[in-house]
Amino acid sequence: MIVVMASKKNTRRGAMRYWGVAVILFALLGWFLPEVGPMWIAVAASLSVLYVFFQMPLPCGAWNRDKTRCRNNASGFLPGCHIEQHRWQSAKLMVTSGGWGELREKTLASWKRTVPALAAAATIISGIMALVQFGFSVVTA
Ligand SMILES: [Zn+2]
Repeated sequence: MIVVMASKKNTRRGAMRYWGVAVILFALLGWFLPEVGPMWIAVAASLSVLYVFFQMPLPCGAWNRDKTRCRNNASGFLPGCHIEQHRWQSAKLMVTSGGWGELREKTLASWKRTVPALAAAATIISGIMALVQFGFSVVTA
């Protein structure tokens, strides 16, 4: 596993931006590797959630003035692209409208955002399961 991750690092310079994909896979597939404890799955899960939210290359998805969705590259799920107005636009919309509707629509607007969102949700579940299992192993030890 570690060898595969290390060799992938050197294949392309741009591939470094996708380091989190390996962490996501680790958080999900760690269950099948007996030598990986639940603690490491929990660590990988929280890292991959941070990665998807703040670093993964994704289309911005904020509203343009002409009612189209911005297609610029953004770093992560929550902040927008380099355009000042797009940064945190969805966070502001969520606060002002008081709901998750905008975030849900924005997520479903492009599969490039839907897939990472599903991956993040899966790692969150995996991480919670890992923490529960870790908690049990501490209690029963
Ligand atoms: Zn934008």
